[in-house]
Amino acid sequence: MNRSVHREHTEREALVETLVAKGIKDEGVLAAIYSVPRHTFVDPIFERRAYEDSALPIDCQQTISQPYTVAKMTELLQVKKYDKVLEVGTGSGYQACILAEMGARVFTIERHLDLLNRARKMFDKLGYNIASRTGDGTVGWSEYAPYDGIIVTAGAPEVPQSLVKQLADGGRLVIPTGSQQSQSLVIVTRKGSEFGYSEIGGFKFVPLVGKEGWQK
Ligand code: SAH
Repeated sequence: MNRSVHREHTEREALVETLVAKGIKDEGVLAAIYSVPRHTFVDPIFERRAYEDSALPIDCQQTISQPYTVAKMTELLQVKKYDKVLEVGTGSGYQACILAEMGARVFTIERHLDLLNRARKMFDKLGYNIASRTGDGTVGWSEYAPYDGIIVTAGAPEVPQSLVKQLADGGRLVIPTGSQQSQSLVIVTRKGSEFGYSEIGGFKFVPLVGKEGWQK
């Protein structure tokens, strides 16, 4: 192993330890965080900070979420192998790759074509088979619905009902909702025709912009 590869592995190990210390327990999530090279998703000027537990800027004034947030949301989604998962807000593509690494069949939507093109290159480079398109993800992706999991990685004013409608029986939706300054993660679980809601406070995301999101 050359020195830089070794450094990345040591840093990724340290990141996993940080996440465990912050309460992440799902072994599948931790293994995926260890496997997916986050430094390849960030701008070269931030590469050295890729394994710190912080959000970092990407193009189009967006951010790659903080690793803790990615881990927490993925844990809340309770992803199982072969689950069909919809992600709204592809951004860098990192979260989509974490889900794919865990064996999910991933569908992801991004409103900025520039970001999506870049993310698609990453999917190819790392060998993940992920379906993606541009558009407004607040209305979901009805062609492939229903989904076992739906994860929204941008903050909404409220839970888009179109997404709730695309949940499979037994499915879970994880979405930050609140003001544009701070949000809670809302977890919607579907059991037959019953929908359960719970939430965890204290998160900060870029805004979800669209028909069932913020207007801008
Ligand atoms: N999951 C990403 C995080 C990106 S930040 C990652 O791992 O890097 C959230 C992303 O949501 C931004 O790229 C933003 O452009 C996108 N977004 C915001 N509103 C959207 C909408 N209505 N539909 C699809 N993408 C949206």
